[in-house]
Amino acid sequence: MPDIISINGLDVKLGEHKSFTMNVAKLPTHTNIDLSVQVFRAKKDGPVLLLTGGLHGDETNGIEIIRRMIESKSLQPEIGTVIAIPIVNVYGFIFNERGVPDGKDINRSFPGAKDGSLARLLAYTLMQSILPVVDCGIDFHTGGASRANFPQVRCTFNQPDAKILAKAFGAPVMLHSALIKNSFRMAAHKKGKPIIVYEAGETLRFDEFAISEGIEGTMRVMAHLGMKTLDQEKPTTKMFKKSMWVRAKKSGLFNATTSLGDMVLPKQELGYISEPFGGRKARMLSSQKGTIIGLNNNPIVHKGDAIIHLAYN
Ligand SMILES: [Zn+2]
Repeated sequence: MPDIISINGLDVKLGEHKSFTMNVAKLPTHTNIDLSVQVFRAKKDGPVLLLTGGLHGDETNGIEIIRRMIESKSLQPEIGTVIAIPIVNVYGFIFNERGVPDGKDINRSFPGAKDGSLARLLAYTLMQSILPVVDCGIDFHTGGASRANFPQVRCTFNQPDAKILAKAFGAPVMLHSALIKNSFRMAAHKKGKPIIVYEAGETLRFDEFAISEGIEGTMRVMAHLGMKTLDQEKPTTKMFKKSMWVRAKKSGLFNATTSLGDMVLPKQELGYISEPFGGRKARMLSSQKGTIIGLNNNPIVHKGDAIIHLAYN
């Protein structure tokens, strides 16, 4: 990167820390939707790492991960630049929602459009103003709809630069995940910029394990990129090429008899679904050996609901 990084007309020189907002849109009340961006530059030039949280506005763990790292000044690199955007979907954050006013998902709206509605406009802003100055990134997410994720990094295993970053992050689980059409990860990949996705915990709940693993992983990625020195033991990561959802065979009340992160064997009981008025229980059995990386926390389930996310090889 050059001595000066320019974002939306604002110059950030080597050794500077700048905090600024970028106007994206206006609500019907004329209230501005502004993207809050922080840029931390070392005196010495090097890689540019992007950290994005709250692309889904109700996924608060990632927002807290970035906030804590800003507060503790751990994003100040010794070499290179960190660009931190704790809340991408400002609208969704205010309303505790995943998407934007028309229900659209920003992470399915890339690369966006200048004349698009809010989701595509936010995607366009990231692609036009931020991505060109970035080398790689970490996008922070949580499980959705009452489902919690065991701390995991997702990337495409056949994309070597992303896989190396994901390995450096060192989350407890690393999962191969194909690029999803119109996602931020795919749009960035098309521009030759690897973005890995960290998934941990659930929406609107702080999860200390998820938050601390997210912070430690980010520090390890910075160390891997040569941006800071870190004296830390190598973490243990389980790598999985595949995953599947175990679905409810009937409607009723779900009780888990296993926990996030558990290793399970074929035919092992994962939980059961009971009828609220008494009567027969339906046991949910694992169809294969694997590790539980996602678990539904809402006891009221309907037939066909995704209940347990199992990673395997
Ligand atoms: Zn998400």
